[in-house]
Amino acid sequence: MFKWFREYKQRKILQKPFPDKWREIMRNRVPHYTYLDTAERSQLEQLVAIFIAEKNFEGCGGLTITDEISVVISAQACLLVLGLPPFQYLKLAAILVYPTTVAMPPSRTSMFNGAGDIVPDQQAILGLASAGETVVLVWDAVLRGTRHATDGHNVVYHEFAHILDMRDGAADGTPILPNRERYRQWVQVCEQAFFQLRNDADKGRKSLLDHYGAVDEAEFFAVATEIFFDRPLRMQKEMPALYQVLAGYYRQDTAARERRHRKKASRTRS
Ligand SMILES: [Zn+2]
Repeated sequence: MFKWFREYKQRKILQKPFPDKWREIMRNRVPHYTYLDTAERSQLEQLVAIFIAEKNFEGCGGLTITDEISVVISAQACLLVLGLPPFQYLKLAAILVYPTTVAMPPSRTSMFNGAGDIVPDQQAILGLASAGETVVLVWDAVLRGTRHATDGHNVVYHEFAHILDMRDGAADGTPILPNRERYRQWVQVCEQAFFQLRNDADKGRKSLLDHYGAVDEAEFFAVATEIFFDRPLRMQKEMPALYQVLAGYYRQDTAARERRHRKKASRTRS
């Protein structure tokens, strides 16, 4: 589709007021939405309206797509790209949602050399991003991620980080960055953190990042993204260099945002 036509269509979408019902869903179901300031909230709402209009949500395994499902998934997918230039999810066509953990046939799990997001003993998945064009999500896993907004696990952030990673055609844990210097910094910082995580995983040592991130660089980026949005204060404190490169890529200061949110919450309590 021509760029001007796409922009024209998006303007048309934005002419309609954002549904109150969707805003209510985000307020109740997407805790990180409530962390945003007024300008960020309205920017996120615009992204969500466009995302829902353009992407094909498909209910699988008997699931019917409701407003709640499409809004909760879209809000988190769009939060990732809040600071990035437009059209990050251009190639993404469909989001397939299953009600509960599914076992996928082997051909659907071949991304990342079969390492994908498979739980090995059950051949079951919570989510899957494939070739940058399709995301598969399990609704009860999505809900777990939003119910526990600071536990460092969020399958939507995880799978959409894979989509961003794959924009340059390679699922290699390095998304598109503006210049060579930034690539150099990225590789240096992530490589060090990745090998540290591998070491921790090998020795069974606890770490801020889930050991699943030690599978390969692509999983490392997806797992690091989950922590960057879910537990930014701890990441900034314990892994400042990694926090810095992620904040530089996403162009968001999630730690400052959480600090502001906490302050506001403690003022309301007292
Ligand atoms: Zn993954």
